[in-house]
Amino acid sequence: MSEPLLRAQNLVKRFDVKGGILRRTVAQVQAVSDVSFDIARGETLGLVGESGCGKSTTGRLLLRLIEPTAGQVWFEGREVTALRPAEMTALRRDMQIIFQDPYASLNPRMTVGAIIGEALTIHGLAANARAREERVAELLETVGLNAGQMRRFPHEFSGGQRQRIGTARALAVSPKLVICDEPVSALDVSIQAQVVNLLEDLQEKLGLTYLFIAHDLSVVEHISDRVAVMYLGRMVEIAPSRELYTSPLHPYTEALLSAVPIPDPTLKRERIRLKGDVPSPLNPPSGCHFHTRCPVANDSSCKREAPALREASPGHWVACHLRG
Ligand code: SF4
Repeated sequence: MSEPLLRAQNLVKRFDVKGGILRRTVAQVQAVSDVSFDIARGETLGLVGESGCGKSTTGRLLLRLIEPTAGQVWFEGREVTALRPAEMTALRRDMQIIFQDPYASLNPRMTVGAIIGEALTIHGLAANARAREERVAELLETVGLNAGQMRRFPHEFSGGQRQRIGTARALAVSPKLVICDEPVSALDVSIQAQVVNLLEDLQEKLGLTYLFIAHDLSVVEHISDRVAVMYLGRMVEIAPSRELYTSPLHPYTEALLSAVPIPDPTLKRERIRLKGDVPSPLNPPSGCHFHTRCPVANDSSCKREAPALREASPGHWVACHLRG
């Protein structure tokens, strides 16, 4: 098998919780627990789970926007987690991120041309102002906007257009991997499909690789080659997209999937309603973190032991004592 473009190996992230007048560390939250996965060149891996499950933290760990507590990230065979800051800046050309909130991620005081052109300047990718402007114009057109809009400010654009601007900014440095961190969650449903289609078209045209983070399975269904599901900081299932949607193994994936609308009105899928909310990551349940909400949990192994992620069939991994 060829080497993956990106490999995350046993990633762990713990955050300190501060308290009291002296702001001492009073507890720790394990946001990401021993998470491992690969992404092949040209592939889209969907990463799904409810808010607070660690998926966005995982995306940021890959880029070292936050530092992992333990574990490694490899990109094209180089250990990203061992790079010095200057080497990391150079590598950021290859690994970009599109943020969830197109309102908050664009500087309101800069024109769109300046926002997109900034990365070209940082990485020395434009010989002069004219070359920079030409490249910005080309990027705006690549994402379905027009070059004449480069002198406008972010507030003059709709949410969908701002997400296109964020995409143009990420593409400015010709990255190989783009981490799409819930890029459509803040947009109207009618606009979401347009942005997802744009990302698909760009992938085909530019040969991009994506980690596509979302909180529900319906968003990633069409764009993903494989889908990974996280719950309370742990990876619970990874499978080729089609297999995950037709034959999920983990009870949590089944519950998420039961909430996905089926376009054919003659087909019915029974909705699995999970009891309670996601437990606090400050005090996660013992054993399998999902046991407090799992419809099929037992009283022995599920409460006592954390299930390991194991390969149930080729390429289909699940972490459950009773399935697979
Ligand atoms: Fe449910 Fe037990 Fe499987 Fe966890 S290990 S998902 S609690 S059946």
